[in-house]
Amino acid sequence: MTLTRHCSACDDERAFEQPPCADGHDADCPEFACAECGMAIVIGDAPELPVIVRSRAA
Ligand SMILES: [Zn+2]
Ligand SMILES: [Zn+2]
Repeated sequence: MTLTRHCSACDDERAFEQPPCADGHDADCPEFACAECGMAIVIGDAPELPVIVRSRAA
């Protein structure tokens, strides 16, 4: 799996590849490495912030 992200080390758009994971994440590993310079980044499925619903008596 590859994806294109801005690499801050290359200061440009780069392809990022999933390196072999040493942490046992397998395909779910959030770590990607720049194909050019190897800088590792973590792609987060940003956890959605809980939406606080305030019920208000009208
Ligand atoms: Zn991993
Ligand atoms: Zn790079």
